[in-house]
Amino acid sequence: MSAPTTYKIAAIPADGVGAEVVAAGRTVLDAMAAASGGTFAFDWTEFPWSCEYYTRTGRMMAEDGLDVLRDFDAIYFGAVGWPSVPDHISLWGLRLKICQNFDQWANIRPVHFHPGITSPLRKADDADLDWVVVRENSEGEYAGLGGRNLSGRGEGNEVALQTALFTERGCERIIRFAFDLARERPRKKVSSVTKSNAQQFGMVLWDETFTRVARDYPDVETESVLVDAMAAKFVLKPEDLSVVVASNLNADILSDLGSALAGSLGLAASANLNPDRRFPSMFEPVHGSAPDIAGRGLANPAGAIGSAALMLDHFGLQAEAARLNAAIEATAAAGVLTPDVGGNAKTDEVTEAVLGVLSEWP
Ligand code: ATP
Ligand code: MG
Repeated sequence: MSAPTTYKIAAIPADGVGAEVVAAGRTVLDAMAAASGGTFAFDWTEFPWSCEYYTRTGRMMAEDGLDVLRDFDAIYFGAVGWPSVPDHISLWGLRLKICQNFDQWANIRPVHFHPGITSPLRKADDADLDWVVVRENSEGEYAGLGGRNLSGRGEGNEVALQTALFTERGCERIIRFAFDLARERPRKKVSSVTKSNAQQFGMVLWDETFTRVARDYPDVETESVLVDAMAAKFVLKPEDLSVVVASNLNADILSDLGSALAGSLGLAASANLNPDRRFPSMFEPVHGSAPDIAGRGLANPAGAIGSAALMLDHFGLQAEAARLNAAIEATAAAGVLTPDVGGNAKTDEVTEAVLGVLSEWP
């Protein structure tokens, strides 16, 4: 028998429920590897980078952290942020730093109904919601450009500038990514989201790029929708969407709305991809560190386990990814649910149930 393909994974649980849900995902991935008949294996290294690490060291990650991470096949991330550290410091010092330095320009956030979970939207059992939000993850509103204290006129007169950066190359690559993804889905449609009536430079460049790229995909249906109208559409006509592509900020907001519509923020999975594969990609649940429930075993691990499925998919293990997603759904359908989705199961009980489903299937 040949040696298994071993994937080197950096685990960064970071803060709050991050530790609980990353542990859940690791358990599930290790069980799948053990059951793979020696086909694949995971070699984990865990890093303590977090707000607690910041309090001890004054840094969110080790000084050579990026160099260390570069050698991994992927990063499995929990959640960053804790009330003891300002959010912009913790976010920029760890998560956004990794995203930007490893050119993870595509952030994929699938949103769909889970059988057995009540959505605030679900009008009938057969109502449909199955989208992927594709988020531009390298520039836009999160480019980090601007400054404080620009007026020089002292207290009470501060002026701050926050600039969004849009490049034609940045717009084009994420829009093409969205079209390529749409071609693989049952509904071949891409909805592009901007606010180009009010933001007349970058967002107009985005719209024009979308129109141009769309010509290369005549088989894919398209629409351009303003973000305010799209928020309404998420609620009123969810069945009309398939792939939704938007800038960094707009897609962030829309994907939180999407996961809430699916039933809970705790369900939502995501991948920060470096599609060029020059750097490791990062897989993480959409939710934050949830200080209100952290450390109590109440966190829903579905988003983190779903992110593990996205990682399997990234490694070319499509059948295993589909199997894992089906196991998450079967667990919910069987009523093993954490409190955020109306149940009273603990994190570990959901994880055990997912493992049970996986072990029963051939
Ligand atoms: P961030 O700024 O990092 O996105 P946030 O402020 O948006 O964080 P979260 O930490 O995601 O907030 O929490 C928002 C709400 O969702 C909280 O009430 C939290 O308890 C709940 N929540 C988040 N993740 C989970 C989870 N995995 N399971 C259950 N509830 C969750
Ligand atoms: Mg949030």
